[in-house]
Parts: sequence; C-alpha cells; structure tokens
Amino acid sequence: MDSKKDILLEKKQFFLDTVARFCDKCGTQYAINDVNIIQNTGVSSIIHFSCHNCKSKHIATLIVPLGISNRVAVNTDLDVKEIKSFTSEKEISTQDILEIYTCLKNNPKVVV
Ligand SMILES: [Zn+2]
Repeated sequence: MDSKKDILLEKKQFFLDTVARFCDKCGTQYAINDVNIIQNTGVSSIIHFSCHNCKSKHIATLIVPLGISNRVAVNTDLDVKEIKSFTSEKEISTQDILEIYTCLKNNPKVVV
C-alpha cells in the first residue's frame, strides 16, 4: 500500500466529515473523489468540493485553531489546478486569515 496515498485519503475523509458531507445545491453526498485539498497548512486549509452529481463547485476554508469552517459556492470554471496556482504563491498568514474571516463574516450569505 502507498502510505502517502492513505494519508491523503484520510485527510479528505476528515474534511468530508468536518466541513461538508453533502452538496449545498442538490444534497448529494460527496464522494471522496469530489474533494480536492488545495492548501493544507497547520493553520488553515482550503478545500475544493466538486459535486459529482450536479457539477456545482464549492470552496471551503477551515481555520484550524479557531475551528471555523466556511463554504462558498464558486461560480467559476477554474479548475483545481488553476485555483492552486493562486494559492500556492505563498503561505497564508494569520493576517490573511483574519481578513478572509472578516470578509466572510460581513457577507450575509455566509453563515459563520
Ligand atoms: Zn450537487
């Protein structure tokens, strides 16, 4: 067995359990293959969910120390690789997280 792959699957399962089990749009239960981990630092994680049923996409952020997760629908055709190219430039700083958090909190569509 490839243990690295196992760890990845475990992480994906963790995000499925913690962040999102079901598609926001159609209610289909996410499969492990619908999950893509875009960024995973000790502090924050960015996870991309792509529903295998209705093809809707969501980006979820999980701020580990605060135990806060948010999900937003993505109205974009960007695929995971393209999203990764935005996020892999630098590590997310605490300041960035606070900014994202404040931004999400001020967005009435997002429940924090
Ligand atoms: Zn769906």
